[in-house]
Amino acid sequence: MKIQLILPAAFLILLCIGARHQAVSGSDSLEAAASEITTLRASSPPPQGGSFPGRWINGVNCNEPRVQVHAYNEDTFIIRQSKCRTFEAPFVYLLFGESRALLLDTGATPTINMFNVVDQVVQDWLVANGRPGIRLVVAHSHAHFDHVQGDNRFVGKPYVEQIVGHGLPAVTQFFGFQNYPHDVPSYDLGGRVLDVIGTPGHHPASITLYDRQTQLLLTGDIVYPGHLFVFSQPHWSDFKDSIQRLIRFARARPVEWVVGCHIEMSDTPFQSYRYGMPSHPDEHVLQFHPSELVEIGAAAFSMGSQPVCTIFDEFVIHPVYRCGISWNG
Ligand SMILES: [Zn+2]
Ligand SMILES: [Zn+2]
Repeated sequence: MKIQLILPAAFLILLCIGARHQAVSGSDSLEAAASEITTLRASSPPPQGGSFPGRWINGVNCNEPRVQVHAYNEDTFIIRQSKCRTFEAPFVYLLFGESRALLLDTGATPTINMFNVVDQVVQDWLVANGRPGIRLVVAHSHAHFDHVQGDNRFVGKPYVEQIVGHGLPAVTQFFGFQNYPHDVPSYDLGGRVLDVIGTPGHHPASITLYDRQTQLLLTGDIVYPGHLFVFSQPHWSDFKDSIQRLIRFARARPVEWVVGCHIEMSDTPFQSYRYGMPSHPDEHVLQFHPSELVEIGAAAFSMGSQPVCTIFDEFVIHPVYRCGISWNG
């Protein structure tokens, strides 16, 4: 089994090395892209940094709390839902600006009241900042069920200014896209500007947020250490275009970390968890160095128009229409 698993991966890595010499944007190589991304990151630290926890709740011990709320910094919170409540165990992001806060996603299960979870963070933040109140916008990385299940908990709550709709028209209208996914509108939380990148491929209305304050790139389900699911052949070219768009972005703007909404890789290279596993012992960390975008691009571009389900060291190229959702090598 091991050999079957690793041989195609090794073959594709060879292909990737070839792909590194192909053009990313017409005239230069993937090596140049990775080098530029790394240099830009090193020379432009974020205005406000942050840190990740030593470990995330992972479902190994179901005495773990139903959510883990982590303060990346005083204005940036990462919330993970327990695998004991939902095998998706998604990550949800809460960003505070001066005039409003933005919640990206509401989680994978209505059995966790995410309004109560978020409200506690909001109330603590208001006290810490001596503020009487703040408006909250609820938006989504994309509209798959595991990112929107908590929406109803936010309906009618007094300081919830808006819950952004799930379809492409609602998403583009809210963020001000004129030509999704080619333009990059910005959205200001008040002294904290987010750039909004259209990243279809995994889902037709996916967005990636770039936070200028922390320089985090919040990629939803298009990039994370796990199964990069693409559900149909027409979406494969969208996926590749989106990865290329993210590479181009990270060459132009410093990205501190790339953070998505799931972890499905082990901390042992080339070991992924099958979709739906109830626990994730020894998980990969949540964050990717931005140069990982180039690794994913190399893998995807090398496959041309016919992707093959393949486990790489830190991610899985997973065209569901080729091998099914439960494929794991
Ligand atoms: Zn998804
Ligand atoms: Zn998801």
